[in-house]
Amino acid sequence: MVFKSENTTLNFVDGVGFLTFPALSELGFVNHAFSTRVGGISTGEYKSMNLNFKRGDKPENVTENYRIFCQAAGFDYESLVSSCQDHNTNVRCVTAADRGIGIYREHDLLSVDALVTNDPAVTLVTHYADCTPLYFADPEKRVIALAHAGWRGTVEKIGEATVEVMQERYGCDPSDIIAVVGPSIGSCCYEVDTPVYEKFASLTELKPAYFTKNLGHGKYLVDLKQTNRRMLLEAGLLSINITISDVCTRCNHGLLYSHRASHGKRGGLVAMMSIRP
Ligand SMILES: [Zn+2]
Repeated sequence: MVFKSENTTLNFVDGVGFLTFPALSELGFVNHAFSTRVGGISTGEYKSMNLNFKRGDKPENVTENYRIFCQAAGFDYESLVSSCQDHNTNVRCVTAADRGIGIYREHDLLSVDALVTNDPAVTLVTHYADCTPLYFADPEKRVIALAHAGWRGTVEKIGEATVEVMQERYGCDPSDIIAVVGPSIGSCCYEVDTPVYEKFASLTELKPAYFTKNLGHGKYLVDLKQTNRRMLLEAGLLSINITISDVCTRCNHGLLYSHRASHGKRGGLVAMMSIRP
């Protein structure tokens, strides 16, 4: 497995592989990671660090994978709070009272694709396998957020919705927010047909010519990461504060679960982030 990236670091701790982004590491006040397939106990199509309870893997294996992953990447297992994603744009603010939701406690709310907190007692967890993770950190107000942007969430502007909640609930100034558009299926691999393309083409204010390409015969390439970046600029973030990870999940399917590369037979990746006490 050869891993190459200009802006994403592959770390190994106790045999567990995870990705980090220098743009967030250098802030100092957050701990963050993006999981890989490496270092867990799951077998078969879930091999091995499957962190998704909803794919048919044994729940006890997924729980053990969470424990192993947290230990290696420096998170407190007890502090985890998971999203409950359904490609919508609902944003939930969480606190210590929500610890364990979606991990060792039942979900108490359906349809949450983005999580926000200013509480160092919680670790945010969101789920992926080609969709785009959006990481947000405001070092001034010490607020963090994670959002799941598949094509639906992207065209429905979940990134913008998350920034709005950071502004309205926590007083964040968008120009202070550092964002990483994380590993996901790249423009190299994300081919869509006309109905999906038309949703992106309708985002005229974002100048879709920059993030779509017509391949002919009703097929198009769409750049999910670039679409999200342009949306974050619209939301008031500064260009200098947005990093796009150059890692494509499909090109790196030996290291990362890719829904497309595996034809749906796969485990799940997570983004995690917490505020250092
Ligand atoms: Zn690719």
